[in-house]
Amino acid sequence: MNEHASRRGRFGPLPADHPSVGTECPACKQQLKAGDVPTLVTIGPGDDPESRERAREGRAYNAVAVIAHEECVHG
Ligand SMILES: [Zn+2]
Repeated sequence: MNEHASRRGRFGPLPADHPSVGTECPACKQQLKAGDVPTLVTIGPGDDPESRERAREGRAYNAVAVIAHEECVHG
């Protein structure tokens, strides 16, 4: 069983050396720590004009995303 290769867009619990450890969760303002299960939240094209245009046209673009606790996003 491999929890790290889990469902789409999901991560397993963070290992202590993961670069996201110490990142502030934008939902609860707590830092992500080892053992927390994070998820990537896609916000949108951000302030890049080309990405905005591509998003409007329904094409693939470089989305701005933030990392937050899985439970802060999905409950
Ligand atoms: Zn959180």
